[in-house]
Amino acid sequence: MDIYNQIGELGVAGVTIPEEYGGAGLSYQDLCVVLSELAKSSVSYAVTLSVSTMSQSILAEFGNEEQKKKYLPALTSGEEIAAFALSESHSGSDAAALKTTAKKVEGGYILNGTKMWITSGGIAKTYIVMARTGEEGHKGISAFIVRDGAEGFSYGKKENKMGWKVSPTRELVFENCFVPEEDLLQTEGMGFKIALSALDRGRITIGSIAVGLAQRALDEAVKYALDRKQFNQAIFDFQGLQFMMTDMATEVECSRLLVEEAARNFDNGIKNQKVACMAKLKATDTAMKVTTDAVQVLGGVGYTSEYPVERFMRDAKVLQIVEGTNQIQKVVIGRCLKKEYAQ
Ligand SMILES: Cc1cc2nc3c(=O)[nH]c(=O)nc-3n(C[C@H](O)[C@H](O)[C@H](O)COP(=O)(O)OP(=O)(O)OC[C@H]3O[C@@H](n4cnc5c(N)ncnc54)[C@H](O)[C@@H]3O)c2cc1C
Repeated sequence: MDIYNQIGELGVAGVTIPEEYGGAGLSYQDLCVVLSELAKSSVSYAVTLSVSTMSQSILAEFGNEEQKKKYLPALTSGEEIAAFALSESHSGSDAAALKTTAKKVEGGYILNGTKMWITSGGIAKTYIVMARTGEEGHKGISAFIVRDGAEGFSYGKKENKMGWKVSPTRELVFENCFVPEEDLLQTEGMGFKIALSALDRGRITIGSIAVGLAQRALDEAVKYALDRKQFNQAIFDFQGLQFMMTDMATEVECSRLLVEEAARNFDNGIKNQKVACMAKLKATDTAMKVTTDAVQVLGGVGYTSEYPVERFMRDAKVLQIVEGTNQIQKVVIGRCLKKEYAQ
């Protein structure tokens, strides 16, 4: 938390949130720069910031004045972290199948169910929780604000992961947890729309984290290759290896441009889901490829924790899974293509 608090002191804990709630009032293009730079050192911190900012954006866009004033300042200042709870054990990609219930009672709702894979679970203070208030499918889902410490709300299993070691991923357990009426976001049935709008942002921010990570892996690979000598010459000058690095650099540049385009669209209010999905897909696949190749360029030492590239490779993998797996990005791109060409 002390390091996260310092991110707040730098003024970047709520980059896109309006200044009146303590944010920096900047754009998604600006947020991408912040996340990319942070990801060059730590994807875990970048992801913590990205998810907290996404949850703040939900409050800023869908919250009423009272909710915004109550919850945003502690988040934009970096004193607290926010989390986004959609996934459950049986509903990941098929998020609309979620089973956590919110039963209407006098003065509020009673939540029951378990959320899984929640980034910052246990360290976040404010949770945006999707639960079912009505019929099956996406129309029966509502969004709630739940605070750490609420009666009937506890933390379950903490995942032991391949990467993102600093970012806790944890279950949230709701057992007859009372949530007051004033902590419902918008109206009943708006939850899935709110969740989808968050994921639109998540594609861009996860893409920018992937770009920063891939850039750092490329930097490490080139620096090492220029310095390391075998057969009396720098290994950079072996064409077989040099072409690998030219490919890495080209892919990183393509990814950066695509993510920038997606962020620019978002900032200008242009809804282009196809480009946003392409940006997430391309940037995260690139991060996986480039970090893996960076380990190869460094040879044996690349596989050890003395150099950071093995961590980069582990941290890259899950970027292809979160905020809509890369297969789901392809499903959406395919849908867009079909619509486009049918017209
Ligand atoms: C470290 C980490 C942090 C996370 N943080 C959060 C968080 O903060 N909040 C949150 O709500 N969730 C979070 N998640 C959950 C994450 O969003 C899900 O893991 C993701 O949506 C995939 O769901 P799943 O794991 O259930 O996989 P599944 O949906 O079961 O998918 C398994 C495989 O099937 C493929 N697949 C599924 N459907 C299709 C299809 N229609 N076409 C083609 N292929 C398909 C997938 O691409 C994948 O390869 C996190 C997960 C991890 C690992």
